[in-house]
Amino acid sequence: MAYDPNNIFARILRGEIPSKKIYEDEHTLAFHDINPLAPVHALVIPKGEYVSFADFSAKASDAEIAALVRAVGKVAKDLGCEQDGYRILSNIGQNGHQEVPHLHIHIFGGASLGRMLN
Ligand code: C5P
Repeated sequence: MAYDPNNIFARILRGEIPSKKIYEDEHTLAFHDINPLAPVHALVIPKGEYVSFADFSAKASDAEIAALVRAVGKVAKDLGCEQDGYRILSNIGQNGHQEVPHLHIHIFGGASLGRMLN
């Protein structure tokens, strides 16, 4: 799938749409999900134009990959999730029910989350 430069997260990255920012560095941005599904629900995205994890894992530089992984760990820790645990998730494509076509890693925490798939 070609990257859509007008997807909502691209617009957040350009500052055209507000977000509740948690963390930012050269390669990544993290913000609170607008429709939280847990007491902690954050999203971590790369600044580069990657549709999904599949796209990112194939094309991103080692520096971008390292930055994203470290940002996920840092944000989870900074939001107080490290002691009791949390969940990270990325929806990919149609079967994954991905709604926004810019890679995002969900961080869920702040409560016991139950099993995901039964
Ligand atoms: O993984 P998926 O693409 O299905 O989820 C997109 C997520 O982006 C949703 O959890 C939605 O609440 C969030 N979102 C947001 N801010 C927006 C638009 C969507 O946090 N402006």
